[in-house]
Amino acid sequence: MAEHESLEFGKADFVLLDNVSIEEFMANLKLRFEKGRIYTYIGEVVVSVNPYRAMNIYGRDTVEQYKGRELYERPPHLFAIADAAYKAMKRRNKDTCIVISGESGAGKTEASKYIMQYIAAITNPNQRAEVERVKNMLLKSNCVLEAFGNAKTNRNDNSSRFGKYMDINFDFKGDPIGGHINNYLLEKSRVIFQQEGERSFHSFYQLLRGAPDSLLRSLHIQKDPTAYNYIKVGGQIKSCINDGADFKAVADAMKVIGFTGDEIQTVYKILATILHLGNLTFGVDGDVTLIDNTKLVSVLRDLLSTKEENVEKALLYRTVATGRDVIEKQHTEQEASYGRDALAKVIAEKLHVVCRWITVGCHVRTINVCFCINYCNEKLQQLFIQLVLKQEQEEYQREGIPWKHIDYFNNQIIVDLVEQQHKGIFSVLDEACMNVGKVTDEVFLQGLNGKLAKHAHYTSRKLSPTDKSLEFDRDFRIRHYAGDVVYSVVGFIDKNKDTLFQDFKRLLYNSSNPVLKAMWPEGKLSITEVTKRPLTAATLFKNSMISLVENLACKEPYYVRCIKPNDVKSPLLFELERCRHQVEYLGLLENVRVRRAGFAYRQTYPRFLQRYKMISEFTWPNHDLPSDKDAVKRLMQGCGFDHDVAYGKTKVFIRTPRTLFSLEEQRVEM
Ligand code: ATP
Ligand code: MG
Repeated sequence: MAEHESLEFGKADFVLLDNVSIEEFMANLKLRFEKGRIYTYIGEVVVSVNPYRAMNIYGRDTVEQYKGRELYERPPHLFAIADAAYKAMKRRNKDTCIVISGESGAGKTEASKYIMQYIAAITNPNQRAEVERVKNMLLKSNCVLEAFGNAKTNRNDNSSRFGKYMDINFDFKGDPIGGHINNYLLEKSRVIFQQEGERSFHSFYQLLRGAPDSLLRSLHIQKDPTAYNYIKVGGQIKSCINDGADFKAVADAMKVIGFTGDEIQTVYKILATILHLGNLTFGVDGDVTLIDNTKLVSVLRDLLSTKEENVEKALLYRTVATGRDVIEKQHTEQEASYGRDALAKVIAEKLHVVCRWITVGCHVRTINVCFCINYCNEKLQQLFIQLVLKQEQEEYQREGIPWKHIDYFNNQIIVDLVEQQHKGIFSVLDEACMNVGKVTDEVFLQGLNGKLAKHAHYTSRKLSPTDKSLEFDRDFRIRHYAGDVVYSVVGFIDKNKDTLFQDFKRLLYNSSNPVLKAMWPEGKLSITEVTKRPLTAATLFKNSMISLVENLACKEPYYVRCIKPNDVKSPLLFELERCRHQVEYLGLLENVRVRRAGFAYRQTYPRFLQRYKMISEFTWPNHDLPSDKDAVKRLMQGCGFDHDVAYGKTKVFIRTPRTLFSLEEQRVEM
């Protein structure tokens, strides 16, 4: 008996639960986790629980076991889903994608690496050299990507602080020929500030701890991270990350993926620029704003290959077009500090974006702002339900099986609440940000209340007089499909108006370092051309989500849903409530129900016979019926299961898991 069918390890597919209830779901998930079975299916969806220990299930031998096999033949595994996605692409010539979701530390990045590794391992060995090259690029690019986009947080020592969506392209034979990556929304605020116990992006510490002295000298950088305001908070943290060695690994990776020597040097200059910027302070003399530490200005001049006066001007003045006139307006001290931070953030972001890396799979992640995480999930959930249903429907059609519509909760109403034109939360936020200075967080909340008071999924009222979850005049609550979430408006406006003054872009565009210049084509525009307001963070986020969803919707999706078992990185602890919340949040139970409303199990006729032919005298050891389909019909009729089965063109469909159990039992008894 194949291991995954042994009940000792729980049900390998949640669809096979006797009753679909949250209790049974959790009991099965827990049992499997405790037995070291970290993967479980819901149909073709993989539910993964972070084991927090090295598992011996990703080696070459395991790859061989999954290669070319059908999903149900082997115990649930990421490799099976990767194989299914790969096969679907090859056989049906369709774009596929693997969507990996889950909260911070749930194992998304690790999963994406195993999937990459699998795909690299199974592609055409005749082209080994080319495949090796692409595979090497994949892994190296990941290394670079993580240096500039990952950080230690309180939840995860190597937390990805950006969303990413990666594509790998295959030729008609199914060999990888390259790919591209879209990053969206680096958590820029981390560049200038980190919570207690957290760090900025790895690359800063790698530079300080790993760079040779000569390089540090040329960048005017000293080794002590606490000397830099922007990374002071996280500077003392001795994490389990080996920054020194990683510096060399990243430098090597940049070379492998094709960075030139000048480009690599520019990367270091950019990192140093950010560190120095953080130490710049401003003061006032009468009504003139000044830079306190002029020595830093000359350091920045060197790093950015520009003139000292340009640096000063960009930091202290803003060029504005009023009608036909272009004037230079001096910043207040506060505006100058704001501008300095905005510059640091945007350079860091640019650094992360400009590198076009080859990599594989598709990994969707959200950013740290809780609001966006939930919105993102809401969007993905919408897509998930639609596509899971759509996929089911298409399979039934292909197989010629009648299909009746299944009702499911459509979360469009919540998505609208967030993104609708003119009255959605993002719109109200953008409007508020047009009037910077005038609109406070409180006014913003009143604006929301005005527009959304009647919305069934929005409230800013306490549920009861003793309700402590929500603070009057500060919070609002959204009823997400996975539960209520309270959001505080404090800092909303500030987070949103994260815009960069055009002057900085011009400063960088006018650098005599061609690498830097090439990074800032926007700086070419003259001030009168830049009449449009820069899009706000919320709008950018919304737009990137919409295009992401559009992109995913035209592909055949496969899903990996990651769950974090506990908050202490323990391989032994399965915190029931913690996990239950995630299961609800990810809508997994709903997924099981949707799946069960159709047919719980399907298998091609030959494979089905292979497994169950010993049950019936008509099929054992071989049948003499005209087709395998007829043989399966005969077998099912003989067992009295005919009423629970539909016969498609190539596959048999079984409605309830009970039938499958009986088949399994009879098989064991033989
Ligand atoms: P974030 O959203 O913060 O980026 P994430 O979902 O990408 O989080 P990972 O970085 O993939 O989380 O996982 C966190 C840690 O959990 C890893 O560094 C690793 O120690 C452990 N881990 C995750 N998946 C596995 C696995 N399959 N086997 C062993 N350890 C794992
Ligand atoms: Mg990650």
